[in-house]
Amino acid sequence: MRKIFNLLLISGLLLLSLAGCKNEPATDTTNPFFSSYSTPYDVPPFDRIRAKDYMPAFEKGMQEGKAEIDKIVSDKSDPTFKNTIEALDSSGKLLTEVSQVFFSQSSANTNDSLQQIEVEISPKMAAYQDEILLNKGLFQKIKTVYDNQDKFNLDPAQKFLLDNLYKSFVRNGANLSQQDQDTLKELNQKLSVLTVKFSQNVLAETNDYKMYVTKDDLAGLPDAVIATAAETAKEAGHEGEWAFTTQRPSIFPFMTYSPNRELRKKIFDAYINRGNNGNQYDNNKILADIVQLRARRVKLLGYKTHADYVLEVRMAKNPANVFDLLDNLWSKAIPVAKSEVSEMQKIIDQEGGDFKLQPSDWWYYAEKLRKKKYDLNDSELRPYFKLENVRDGLFTVANKLFGITITPLTDIPKPHPDAQAYDVKDTDGSHLGVLYMDFHPRGSKQQGAWCGEYRSYHVVDNKGVAPVVTTVFNFTNPSGDQPALLSLEEASTMYHEFGHALDALFSKSRYNETYIAWDFVELPSQLMEHWATEPEVLRMYARNYKTNEPIPESLIKKIKNSGYFNQGFETTEYLAASLLDMKYYTLEAPANVEVQPFEKNYFEQIGLIPEIVSRYRSTYFLHIVGGYDAGYYSYIWAAVLDNDAFEAFKEKGIFNRDVADSYRKNILEKNGTEDAMQMFVNFRGRKPEIEPLLKNRGLLQQTKD
Ligand SMILES: [Zn+2]
Repeated sequence: MRKIFNLLLISGLLLLSLAGCKNEPATDTTNPFFSSYSTPYDVPPFDRIRAKDYMPAFEKGMQEGKAEIDKIVSDKSDPTFKNTIEALDSSGKLLTEVSQVFFSQSSANTNDSLQQIEVEISPKMAAYQDEILLNKGLFQKIKTVYDNQDKFNLDPAQKFLLDNLYKSFVRNGANLSQQDQDTLKELNQKLSVLTVKFSQNVLAETNDYKMYVTKDDLAGLPDAVIATAAETAKEAGHEGEWAFTTQRPSIFPFMTYSPNRELRKKIFDAYINRGNNGNQYDNNKILADIVQLRARRVKLLGYKTHADYVLEVRMAKNPANVFDLLDNLWSKAIPVAKSEVSEMQKIIDQEGGDFKLQPSDWWYYAEKLRKKKYDLNDSELRPYFKLENVRDGLFTVANKLFGITITPLTDIPKPHPDAQAYDVKDTDGSHLGVLYMDFHPRGSKQQGAWCGEYRSYHVVDNKGVAPVVTTVFNFTNPSGDQPALLSLEEASTMYHEFGHALDALFSKSRYNETYIAWDFVELPSQLMEHWATEPEVLRMYARNYKTNEPIPESLIKKIKNSGYFNQGFETTEYLAASLLDMKYYTLEAPANVEVQPFEKNYFEQIGLIPEIVSRYRSTYFLHIVGGYDAGYYSYIWAAVLDNDAFEAFKEKGIFNRDVADSYRKNILEKNGTEDAMQMFVNFRGRKPEIEPLLKNRGLLQQTKD
């Protein structure tokens, strides 16, 4: 989240055609990337950047980077940390600049021209990365420094950079013989074909299925769900009927509200058998092949299993640590899930239903339970979450915690006219960075919410350069004379992205390249969310937009209690999927599996209860095929960290400055430059513990049956 590109993307490319070109175009003096920005705080001059400025800047940036790398490689003197690692780290300055501006703009403020450039530049950037990773001369230099590191008196940050840089080459096969490198390439190619096929099959199976129902079957469903189902049927040429699909926004409202057991079972069976129907979209064999190829691939690279390879660069470090956490949580979640089953069975019995709860009944009876025990109404809450109140409350929280002040900036270029610009000042009044906030949806913006950087904190001539950070959202719009009233989830999202922003604003990284562990990256953001719903903080900022009355205590209580709803189920179905992921990827080559029996046996072995199906079954578990392989655990890993870190504040007071300063100094300033576990221990005084997570999810309660 902090850096869009790693060093390997931004440091230079062997664009031979360009490098050999003698008549370089004269530098365009009107291109803002080719001179200093001359703006307040040196923010990008958004008003002066034209679409046609990007491509020449990318190309010049790559040329410069390439020349800098050539210089490192051809240097006749012995490789040192300074002439190799530091030189590589500081190369490609222009390319970094243009990349950060371009990719931030193409997600938040795109248009046809930018989309065209994106298509053009993406393969060039990928090729650029490959060329560097396969640059034998460069790797030899890095390896020499790595092998002789004792000679260079490196401090911990330098050693961390060197280790990670070296590792990134080795993990891509730089240390292998030519023959093994060729085999690796072949395996990579096969894998890329199979992973694409796997996800295409899931898509096809999801799109192909429709359950048509008649008017009588619509009982209990909300109007909006019925309207969408009518639309879906009409699009499929079944006007006058209603269609439900296995896409989440269609199936889960049906599962939640339809009293028709048979239909619930019908669509749920379709959902959990995607990719497992013995047709041309069957994923059983494909997944088995992927698991096998990955096991072979990492064996070649010298690792025991794929999970060992993946986890080496994560905070978790190895499979045993992941299993420890998952098994421990599993033993706490199962009893709670069982007590949820018995609560729901009670409702079934009271209603005179003569059956045992099945997996396809869960959502329907959980909703009944939720209404009974936790009812929290969205429209009741929104008046207390006016966007400006949430934002100003957040700034107050930041001030109370860290002593920083955040004030609006006018007369400064903005990434979009609707964005707001802020000056973030440190306790002593010095400038920490610029923060943009861009709240509402528009056609040129991607879905979701994120935090990005137009410029990362970095050091030039021993002086820190302040970052330019942006947070982007798609929040509810104001309507008529009613201001933007956020949902509770949207309010938490604002805190979440602001947590990422603090990580960027407080960074004190001496080097451009940082290595943030994947299972650590959400700590700063998820931690911040805790303040959004703390009673003390809600009383401060959640005020009725008309009367300015603070939120009633009864609503605060409901917000707190709603956090316990259905947690046995949610934790169990999630853990089942996480464990399955780990089970596949801790198989050693040759790793022969037959997917269906493998999955069935494993869930039996760990004691998954019959009322719950894993959140994902093997043949549609997209995460474990692309990107989250041996990584699905990381959501709950990060949750353990944020709950435990927040507990440190709760122990001393949620605005305790000493704890906040320690968090800033030990984690936010260092993130990406030090081992994740070490940073956590430095802050917390010990390794993370799971009790705060269990407590906050209501998983500490004893089973009642
Ligand atoms: Zn995040």
